[in-house]
Amino acid sequence: MQDVAHGFSIPPLDRYPWRIILFRWLLLAVEASIAVKFIIGFRFELAVIYIAYGVICLFLLLPLIRCVRCSYYGKRCNFGWGVWVSKVFPRDEVNSQSAFYGYTILFWPLRLLPIILGFQVFLNGFIGVLSWEFEQFQIIPHGLFPAYLLTIFLHRRFYRAAACVKCHERLNCPVYNCGVMLAHGSRPERMQPPAA
Ligand code: SF4
Repeated sequence: MQDVAHGFSIPPLDRYPWRIILFRWLLLAVEASIAVKFIIGFRFELAVIYIAYGVICLFLLLPLIRCVRCSYYGKRCNFGWGVWVSKVFPRDEVNSQSAFYGYTILFWPLRLLPIILGFQVFLNGFIGVLSWEFEQFQIIPHGLFPAYLLTIFLHRRFYRAAACVKCHERLNCPVYNCGVMLAHGSRPERMQPPAA
């Protein structure tokens, strides 16, 4: 079926099915568990700070940076956030999805820190392999680093394939359409929220 208005072959969803939302959260839970394990192995206090910052990102920064400008504000988006966010944060009626996208740099530490620490762990085991001491490489902890990267990759592939292609925001979203970063700002052509 051709979505002629937007030039896509798949029509957008007004509400995402729970199976997509729950699978995204499952992948996120796997990623977060591995990340916390890396950080606890380095320093417990840092893991507490990491978890606290993750909660702030999920419940404050993500809504303010993205959700309040999304067509799924007040609706069930593929992350399951649209409904509760609309009850807590006012909608930004003026700006586009891309206008505040640069602030997503604030989410980067959530992945950079476990990548740095996880790579160190992996390297310790890998050096043993290079020395023909294969028994020094253990699935846990050394194999967790490739598992972590694989989970991030699978998560991205999943939401691009299962969510982005059916999203009302795909034309306005820098994740799906990086060209919009060149023309961000106000959105006079703003897409209407999905029908109730
Ligand atoms: S296009 Fe993808 S990343 Fe962007 S808002 Fe939609 S589902 Fe989210």
